Amino acid sequence: MKRQSATVPLLFVLAAVLPSSTPAQTDPKATEQWEPVPKVVTPGRLDGAPPSDAIVLFDGSDLDQWESSRDHSAARWKVHDGVVTVDKASGNIQTRRRFRDYQLHLEWQVPKGITGEGQERGNSGVFLASTGPGDEGYEIQIMDSWKNATYVNGQAASIYKQAAPLVNATRPPGEWQTYDVIWTAPVFSADGTLTSPAYVTLFHNGVLVQNHTQLAGETFYIGKPKYSPHAAAAIKLQAHGDRSPPISFRNMWVRPLD
Ligand code: MG
Repeated sequence: MKRQSATVPLLFVLAAVLPSSTPAQTDPKATEQWEPVPKVVTPGRLDGAPPSDAIVLFDGSDLDQWESSRDHSAARWKVHDGVVTVDKASGNIQTRRRFRDYQLHLEWQVPKGITGEGQERGNSGVFLASTGPGDEGYEIQIMDSWKNATYVNGQAASIYKQAAPLVNATRPPGEWQTYDVIWTAPVFSADGTLTSPAYVTLFHNGVLVQNHTQLAGETFYIGKPKYSPHAAAAIKLQAHGDRSPPISFRNMWVRPLD
């Protein structure tokens, strides 16, 4: 108590004699920002049409934007009825373009009458940056998580083996589902050390399920996540090796943010 009573009067004295370093602001314009003006973008319609500045990755007609992850030949998944269905035999496919930070939209459907259980039930995935032809990279899980238990950091909308979704927003098999992703790629210095980690924000069917989730590295089936330096990378879709019927995708587009 003794020390406190000595300190308080001193502060009053200092406040009275020292000139104020920050005069009170009275002008509301002082905190207005006018430049740069955000570019005008026509938003997509609620039927899922892409916004005007998006790179359309798949509009239902062909896979010209995609290649085989294995050998970079033309992607051989089956395009039919405006959708593309996974061809497990031909393996993963990926974008021909390479990306750093972006916003991504895709729609996926687990077929009605899906069989299997756990991870063996409509398993696929989107790798936000591919670092190899197989399952290397950073996977957001895609599978049937409608009344299908598995480890929660491996269910639909998880960052595989790193972060469970905040909620389970999965629709039943046979219904289309949306993913809207904001990907912040990791940054590496010239000597390969990590400067800034990767972050993922994900909306599943319009519901926030990953909120600026920081990644501990690439996602692995076995072992802990870790980073290895890489450049701009493809977006990859997984042909998972389970024996359940293959899932389909439609309406995929991306907006690079850098
Ligand atoms: Mg998967």
